[in-house]
Amino acid sequence: MLKLLRKALQVGEATVAYPFKPVEVAPGFRGKPVYDFSRCIACGACATACPPNAITMDCDVERGVKSWNINYGRCIFCGRCDEVCPTGAIVLSAEFELAAASKEDLYCRAELKLCKCISCGAYFAPCRELEYVLASLKQAGLPESGHEGWEQILKLCPKCRRRKAGSAAGTFGRAGKVLGGRR
Ligand code: SF4
Ligand code: SF4
Repeated sequence: MLKLLRKALQVGEATVAYPFKPVEVAPGFRGKPVYDFSRCIACGACATACPPNAITMDCDVERGVKSWNINYGRCIFCGRCDEVCPTGAIVLSAEFELAAASKEDLYCRAELKLCKCISCGAYFAPCRELEYVLASLKQAGLPESGHEGWEQILKLCPKCRRRKAGSAAGTFGRAGKVLGGRR
């Protein structure tokens, strides 16, 4: 018995006192994905990449909003959303205590505005996504002379864009031709 006690004292603590004491997680730990509404452009990349469909997005063209939803009850902490998000709007945190008293507490939802097509007036794409695309084009070195043309093209819904693409050479230049075929 004494021998056993001596051995136990030598080994020290084999367990942690959690939940009475906080636990420090290892670097790179994949915990609860945290969403930052101010950075989200509603591009949908996270929803497409999420294997268990914990993240979903819906478009309501009547109200002109795109909703972003996460169900933490379905999350498998794979980190795909974090990897694919172009703006860092969703990142995995060190948080792992997800127990909730109600199912509703496992949901997080946000709504982002859709932009109207400048030609037909229909809602078609998240305003922030369009702003992001334009900013990326400028950053990529788009000549200043082309800014207006691209801006006009981006504000058209895919249907009107295709329709106008025929006369793109005269109206929008190269931007019209390139984006005319995009959905
Ligand atoms: S961590 Fe994985 S499962 Fe969880 S929301 Fe992100 S992509 Fe989906
Ligand atoms: S990938 Fe990022 S920016 Fe795009 S919808 Fe998801 S959280 Fe928002």
